[in-house]
Amino acid sequence: MISRIDLRGNVLPEGGVLRDLLPRAEFDVEAALETVRPICEDVRHRGSAAVIDWGEKFDGVRIESVRVPAAALAQALEELDPAVRAALEESVRRARLVHREQRRTTHTTQVVPGGTVTEKWVPVQRVGLYVPGGRAVYPSSVVMNVVPAQEAGVEGLAVSSPPQKAFGGLPHPTILAACALLGVDEVYAAGGAQAVAMFAYGTEECLPVDLVTGPGNIYVAAAKRLLKGRIGIDAEAGPTEIAVLADATADPVHVAADLISQAEHDPMAAAVLVTDSEELAAATEAELARQVAATKHVKERIEPALAGRQSAIVLVNDLEDGLTVVDAYAAEHLEIQTADAAALAGRVRNAGAVFVGPWSPVSLGDYCAGSNHVLPTGGCACHSSGLSVQSFLRGIHIVDYTRDALAEVTHHVVTLAEAEDLPAHGAALKARFGWKVPQQ
Ligand code: NAD
Repeated sequence: MISRIDLRGNVLPEGGVLRDLLPRAEFDVEAALETVRPICEDVRHRGSAAVIDWGEKFDGVRIESVRVPAAALAQALEELDPAVRAALEESVRRARLVHREQRRTTHTTQVVPGGTVTEKWVPVQRVGLYVPGGRAVYPSSVVMNVVPAQEAGVEGLAVSSPPQKAFGGLPHPTILAACALLGVDEVYAAGGAQAVAMFAYGTEECLPVDLVTGPGNIYVAAAKRLLKGRIGIDAEAGPTEIAVLADATADPVHVAADLISQAEHDPMAAAVLVTDSEELAAATEAELARQVAATKHVKERIEPALAGRQSAIVLVNDLEDGLTVVDAYAAEHLEIQTADAAALAGRVRNAGAVFVGPWSPVSLGDYCAGSNHVLPTGGCACHSSGLSVQSFLRGIHIVDYTRDALAEVTHHVVTLAEAEDLPAHGAALKARFGWKVPQQ
């Protein structure tokens, strides 16, 4: 079911070449741009009417208005299964503990006597948080989007998730309940590109936002890429990925279960085992066959995900090569299941999040570790981070110099301005000192 890639026996090639040998989904966001462009343009010109029409086409349900009534939010919370409520509350509590620590403090540097630069952190004013709801529903993504935004101090917070036919065109009730639990009262029933465009351009019902965050499928990713600039976006968080770096000490039952747990998201999800142990590879293959047969969502998601070109067991000479491989792959989620997992984890350079040892599976991070589960996919972990308080903050430099501090450095500024053939820049300083460069 899952293929093998054998990198044993050879010296591993350098970065880009190695990356091309590794499994990865064909996730052509550029091609999807052409699909989402007319949707975004339509929403720009026709507002809510367009959001409703595209929702009918893709989500199979026609709704009256896109904004979810307050009464529906309250009712969803009231009717929420108490066990789910308790689990969501624990997830929120742990996420708050971690994200609160990420808050930034204002810092002032005295560059010279009389010359300071203060870095002040200001929350984005209004954000649109996307919560996926096509194949699976993700109330956990409400938590992972909303908690860092709230901890950053964002005041205007709107959530959007696709309308569900089974619930009369409202987003899934557990998503509504999670919003209500977190005190979010501005919620929209819109999915995919039409939701991102609604946030970016605004409609009669929804004011435009400054930043859109949250995971989603290829159409969500394409719309975010298309509208970037008009809005800020977080890292691209597409179909989920798990890489497991394991040696002969790992338990194949756990390894197989963890690979399946992420394959369950999407037929495009990626599950990759990197190991130096032939025995573990074979035992994991056997376990995959056994466990897949006993799980849900087999035909529509798990089997295609494991059999796809994005998933594989990669055999390497040793764990050093394994580390090189997982760094080149830059997985969204990386589990280390080796004899000395903590030491190896400390050396990982590229991953959205690292899960150390046998008792820290990715599913824990999906819900209740306290870490964020909105993480960069598709190799973006080599340049981007997951969602955090920082994603919702902007740093503003406040420059404050006295006359003497400015006088002291004017000759350098004038010299650099002239070197750039921008003499008016230098003149702006000289004008303050009788059109002369102050003597040193
Ligand atoms: P989704 O909400 O992202 O997408 C559903 C929407 O896609 C629909 O509302 C519809 O508007 C649009 N759509 C569907 N078919 C279309 C088409 N042919 N043309 C244009 N638009 C179309 O839900 P999903 O599809 O279940 O995807 C969720 C994704 O999010 C999964 O891949 C999952 O792995 C991923 N995810 C990632 C993370 C992360 O942090 N990386 C976290 C959670 C979920």
